Amino acid sequence: MGMKIDYTVAERFLKYVKIDTQSDPDSDTCPSTEKQKDLGHLLVRELVEMGVSDAHMDDHGYVYATIPGNSDKKVPTICFCSHMDTSPDCSGKNVNPQVVKNYNGKDIVLLNDKTQIIKTTEHPSLLKQIGNDIITTDGTTLLGADNKAGVAEIMDAANHLVKHPEIKHGTVKILFTPDEEIGRGADKADLKKLGADYAYTIDGEELGHIENETFSADGVTISIHGVSTHPGFAKNKMESAIKIAGEIISALPRYTMSPESTEKKEGFIHPVSISGGVEETKIQFIIRAFEEEELKMQETFLKNIAVMVIKKYPHSTFDFVVKEQYRNMKKILDKNPQIVNYAMDAMRRAGVEPVLSSIRGGTDGSRFSYMGLPCPNIFAGEHAFHSKHEWVSIQDMQKAVATIVNLCVIWEERS
Ligand SMILES: [Zn+2]
Repeated sequence: MGMKIDYTVAERFLKYVKIDTQSDPDSDTCPSTEKQKDLGHLLVRELVEMGVSDAHMDDHGYVYATIPGNSDKKVPTICFCSHMDTSPDCSGKNVNPQVVKNYNGKDIVLLNDKTQIIKTTEHPSLLKQIGNDIITTDGTTLLGADNKAGVAEIMDAANHLVKHPEIKHGTVKILFTPDEEIGRGADKADLKKLGADYAYTIDGEELGHIENETFSADGVTISIHGVSTHPGFAKNKMESAIKIAGEIISALPRYTMSPESTEKKEGFIHPVSISGGVEETKIQFIIRAFEEEELKMQETFLKNIAVMVIKKYPHSTFDFVVKEQYRNMKKILDKNPQIVNYAMDAMRRAGVEPVLSSIRGGTDGSRFSYMGLPCPNIFAGEHAFHSKHEWVSIQDMQKAVATIVNLCVIWEERS
């Protein structure tokens, strides 16, 4: 079934990336940066102009909107979700996007910093884009395709549904979140108010990819309590928490169980920060694995290292605190296989071969899935995100728009 869509996704995208929405992990407020609301206000205005009259942003910077259903059938309420913030790892100020029309398969030298080159050897996906139109940065900032490509795609699909009442669909919800890049995108999402049965984040990379599996993730803090004395009179008394921490870190495996030695379905133990002094030193870790048993096994492994090290220091102790971060969404999604199956059919209908894959990370959707809203991740077409080499193809974005529209149609057809 072919569907003609008057695409406005590229124009929308080029407008959204010019708004700086960088989030800030050191801020305690929500949104973490007030400027994220600049994009939120624009999206609300555009949705209302389209005719999506209940569109609004709450105090936390979340944008909610409803496209009412027009079917006589009882169709589940589906939500599409993207995040508005960009990564704190790379500047998102004064983004100056460049369009490379009819891409020729060569390396792309970026306009305002010629040392920044997007090489096909480093980004082999580019070779699938010959003849397409690629949007890049000017070499001085990130692009923000992560996740404004998804935002633009959802906006364009919404526009298409509203302009074409002959397309039958159930109630469609839209949710744009702040602060995903700092791991807080789901924190203040009001899922009760949203009222969706199932959701899709549009925040994936390669054309055709759908991710139904994420890491399961915990944070671990080891606080070491040593013994501090005057260093001139410390013989047989001092037990430095700094040195104990150093021993724990150096006892970690180097060629296994670390980010730099693992891939695919392997998990890891990763020290991310260390702070303190002779009296007390804290080490923070992130622990990642696809299976929860492996996650727990790694935590036990880490704890055993600390126990072994501390034995040499009779007057020192340590605390070992585990904090759950998120869980692999697959467990939830497997209970409702149609969520992923319909998305794969929606891609096929858009002429895209679906590829089911897993993410070595988490998404807002992994949190939503455990908050009662099952939510896999669909490609948005974003590549090399969090960097100056970030790029997206206009044709991939259009395929994502068609996938969203088709997905609404398929849920109606099969209800
Ligand atoms: Zn993202």
